[in-house]
Amino acid sequence: MAARKVLLSGPCHGKLSALFKRVAAVNKSNGPFDVLLCSGQFFAAGDEADQEDTELQAYLDGSKPVPVPTYFIGAHGKGARKAMQALAAANSDRINYLGRAGVQTVAGLTVAYLDGSQLAVSDGQKLLSLQYNDSCLYYNEDDVRRVKAAADAAGDVDVFLTCEWPEGITSAVPSNTLPEALTDHSGSKTVSELALSVRPRYHVAGSKPVFFARLPYMNRDLGVGAHASRFVGLAAVGNADKQKSLHALALVPAADMVLAALTQKPEGCTASPYENAVGGKRQHAEDENLGEQSWRWQDNKRQKPNHAAPSLGRPGVVKDDKCTIYVKNLPFRAEEGDLEAFFAQCGKVVDVRRGLNAEGKLNGFGFIQFATASAVERACQLSGQELMGRELYIDTATATASDRQPVIGKPVEGCWFCLSNPNADTSLVASIGEECYMAVDKGAITPMHVLLVPIEHYPNTLTLSASCYAEMERYLSALQTCYASQGMDLVAFERYMKFLKTGGNHCHLNVMAIPTAAAAKARQAFESSAAANSFSFTALPAGTRGEASREALRAEVGDGEYLLIVLPGGARLVHPISRGERIAVSFGRQVIAELAGVPDRADWKTCALSPEEEQKQTEAFKALFKPYDIMQ
Ligand SMILES: [Zn+2]
Repeated sequence: MAARKVLLSGPCHGKLSALFKRVAAVNKSNGPFDVLLCSGQFFAAGDEADQEDTELQAYLDGSKPVPVPTYFIGAHGKGARKAMQALAAANSDRINYLGRAGVQTVAGLTVAYLDGSQLAVSDGQKLLSLQYNDSCLYYNEDDVRRVKAAADAAGDVDVFLTCEWPEGITSAVPSNTLPEALTDHSGSKTVSELALSVRPRYHVAGSKPVFFARLPYMNRDLGVGAHASRFVGLAAVGNADKQKSLHALALVPAADMVLAALTQKPEGCTASPYENAVGGKRQHAEDENLGEQSWRWQDNKRQKPNHAAPSLGRPGVVKDDKCTIYVKNLPFRAEEGDLEAFFAQCGKVVDVRRGLNAEGKLNGFGFIQFATASAVERACQLSGQELMGRELYIDTATATASDRQPVIGKPVEGCWFCLSNPNADTSLVASIGEECYMAVDKGAITPMHVLLVPIEHYPNTLTLSASCYAEMERYLSALQTCYASQGMDLVAFERYMKFLKTGGNHCHLNVMAIPTAAAAKARQAFESSAAANSFSFTALPAGTRGEASREALRAEVGDGEYLLIVLPGGARLVHPISRGERIAVSFGRQVIAELAGVPDRADWKTCALSPEEEQKQTEAFKALFKPYDIMQ
């Protein structure tokens, strides 16, 4: 039941070095990934007979490393002919062309694919049957038949790759869940007919310059329970609009799953965008035969990640902090033996302690105890080195908050947000990622009020690791889509305070849904409330994401305290809080409660619920968020 870690890419367009550079970085921060699947045109626009210039040869002969085993379609474009000959000659197992049309098992996943696009013919009546030749710029009727037959025989298709978007995919979905940049809603009717018949769990296409992860849709119930499909449209590698071209998934192959018909409609799941457009018009005689088949489908429970067993301390070892190191960012699949083998270079390892958090997930940090204190010094020298593709952060177990460097990442005793602490309120946790988690706020202003929190004890978003911050951004964007499905907009704030107590602040972002009408007034409300409290906000540069957005924030606040507001639409306001300046801790709550039309809920105490009510609220939010959960 191990999940495969899959990267999906939009059209490479000949930018192979750029693609692999990005994939290598993602593989390092969030990997290792098992496979990279590329949709859309792989080579640059141009003449197939030309020389290709993607540096493909360097990856084929091994002079440059291919970060993740790569499978592509779209074998057309500049220099495609020579490149494909070189690929065939190299017989590489790192870069593979899937083929024109069919189904293959890749990394245990069942992958269907159709290369090329439909040749636009002037009479528009039917596909032109092309003579087979080396080019897969266009598909023909045989190709389409081949995909359909192979997919029928294969049963459950995990991923379906096409160059073209399917016709109608943007229908049957609230318009506010469509990407703003999407203006052209056309698509291929052939591809939508295939998607209707293939019923892939994920359908990936790359013919439009936007990123679009559609709400899941239900396939027709053939008598044994229907299952959901998800469509992901990806933009081209290195596109100027900074649209997302790479998407990560953790996917358990359908073939490994227990028999469990998925009869329950997931929250937020829409009707099939194809049923009316395609299915209503003609009967799929072949589809009826699929009714015999039992659909093995994903269990409703969270997929169990492929994690090592916890190390709970060896019997008879007396704890000695002087001989112990604290290690952070440990690979989840590293077993106790792997850790012992790695640290044996510093001295004899006598104990390994790495527990589970309250949700039963292996902690990303742990403690290694050596036989001697001198080994600790040697081990600290290894900080920054990689183990199984993850960069380790190593410190002595005795380092404290009184050290010059602020202590970050270590669990702090008594901290509410450190999940490993016994007093952490895990009953409110709605989703746990690799490095962040999401919890319903204790004292939620509105039912969809949640906190985004790093699993480890970092003081603010500026000090998170890049991968942790990226995951927080992914949660934010998933929340935005989730709220949008309810006709609401997202507003968020972060208040960073340098508490002097041991350990200091544990970073958390308050995220809430407010009605669209209120969203329009949000900026004005924050600015006028600030003015009433004799301070003002600075607007951060618009449209930045990832590290650029953090640099913009850092430029304003340095390492000081701050209040950051994320407005509907993503614009950000910040106020650096100077020493001695007093701003009510409840400022963010006050403004948002007012905006949401529930001003008396600004006071945390009026929102407190009984544990049973809290539990109910958390379960309700979990169900609502499930279709959008980045960890699904
Ligand atoms: Zn903490």
